[in-house]
Amino acid sequence: MVVKPDSASFPPPNAQPHASWETRGFWEGAGRGELVLQWCTECSAVQHKPRGLCVDCLSDEGLVHFVASGEGTVHSFTVTEQNQAKGFVDVCPYIMAYIRLAEGPRILSAITECDPDSVAIGSSVRAAFVAQERTDEEAFAVPVFHLC
Ligand SMILES: [Zn+2]
Repeated sequence: MVVKPDSASFPPPNAQPHASWETRGFWEGAGRGELVLQWCTECSAVQHKPRGLCVDCLSDEGLVHFVASGEGTVHSFTVTEQNQAKGFVDVCPYIMAYIRLAEGPRILSAITECDPDSVAIGSSVRAAFVAQERTDEEAFAVPVFHLC
């Protein structure tokens, strides 16, 4: 499910993703409420972030996109209490975390809609998606995670 952004929560409205030819599948998937990863048909590696070649076997022909479960666990995290950058000052404190996805790769994202004291390494999380109000034709969303 993709939800509309809240001006007082992460990500701030000015944090807009821009897709390259490598990342377009990921951002378009997020816009549909899907966490899209890459799978290598040559060596079976699963990877994130999206790239033009497999980081395991370097194949540039075997990569396919697939919809991941969106489930994972907190690998590590930090709570940002102060950030004076435009937009971010209004969303503090926010939790940035490396999430170990059920499919294997780690993703850097935010954990939202919870008390920072309730997050721990190993906590189970599930992906959620925050739509971005944009001036172009793109329909991207930003993946964040919620505690299960
Ligand atoms: Zn490979």
